[in-house]
Amino acid sequence: MLDVPASRAVTWRPRRVVATRSALALPHGRAILERAAGQGIDVVELPSDRITLAYSEDPKRAYAEAKATLAVVVAPPSKRRLQPIAPSADWRVDLAEGCPAHCSYCYLAGSLKGPPITRVYANIEEILDGLPAYLGQGTVTSRSATRAHEGTTFEASCYTDPLALEPLTGSLSTAIAWFGQWDAEVQLRFTTKFASVDPLLGLAHGGRTRMRASVNPSAFARFEGGTARVSERLSALRRMALAGYPVGLTIAPIIAASGWQDAYGTLIEDAGAALGDLAGIDLTVELITHRFTAGSKAVLDSWYPGSSLDMTGENRSTKRTKFGTEKQVYDADTMRALRPFFQDRLSAALPAARILYWT
Ligand code: SF4
Repeated sequence: MLDVPASRAVTWRPRRVVATRSALALPHGRAILERAAGQGIDVVELPSDRITLAYSEDPKRAYAEAKATLAVVVAPPSKRRLQPIAPSADWRVDLAEGCPAHCSYCYLAGSLKGPPITRVYANIEEILDGLPAYLGQGTVTSRSATRAHEGTTFEASCYTDPLALEPLTGSLSTAIAWFGQWDAEVQLRFTTKFASVDPLLGLAHGGRTRMRASVNPSAFARFEGGTARVSERLSALRRMALAGYPVGLTIAPIIAASGWQDAYGTLIEDAGAALGDLAGIDLTVELITHRFTAGSKAVLDSWYPGSSLDMTGENRSTKRTKFGTEKQVYDADTMRALRPFFQDRLSAALPAARILYWT
């Protein structure tokens, strides 16, 4: 098994934390601001609920300033209305929006508008209290023979990486404990490229939270700035499994760059070394190939002009989404080479793992 000390895990430290007036009126919002101030981070109490921040005129500096900013806000009712989020889960639940890492393929580039600050929601009680209305309402999990036993599933990683924010926010721990005492067939899910799981290990999770480590080969680390090393993520996942959590691997995005067979072969062997000896492990795998839209490519090209991530049309075909937009996915030949490779290697290295989907 991989031996990586937990203390080396990456912890995000924003340069400033701002809080709106409504967020400061809530205990969770105040606690986040006090935690930040206690760590010597610049904190700003805004006089209203409008976030008005000045950014540098230089786009590169403006990006860096925004990425180093955490805003504590209140999620309005529109953000608390859950959306279906196939194939990962029945429903998307957002505890925050935005992420401090710098992945040159990040899908948030096409989803979130404006400067890339991270917003965390202060009204976490209100968000969680809204979830029982969705119990038994989902269609993704109940229709899957391999997942029906998990009940109604709620995905917390669609618009953020909740573990990245956890040291300052505590939102993920709050949600895990809340699901732990929810006496129903439900599952909270989160996936992460971070590794600071220490605060989660002792929680009364009740087996109702599944953590997945979002992993890519070390050889592709150049595409994942500001994240924990892959070996740290696998080590963190092992410790979560030992603490009784259901766990998983999100291999995403699968990048068919030169040398991908060796790179992903090594990754899967490393995952086998980290997890393969755990008897009775509840382990899933999600396989997501790289894709992009014209909009996300334009934003990513401006944020990471030097990235070597291939977003030309080579090896790509155009796919229409159910919303009428277009995305570029790998073409049929590339997909035909990738899919059996992953299935074969995973069943050899981690025979206990259940593959949930390929996309
Ligand atoms: Fe985006 Fe995930 Fe990377 Fe954060 S860790 S920048 S959410 S891909």
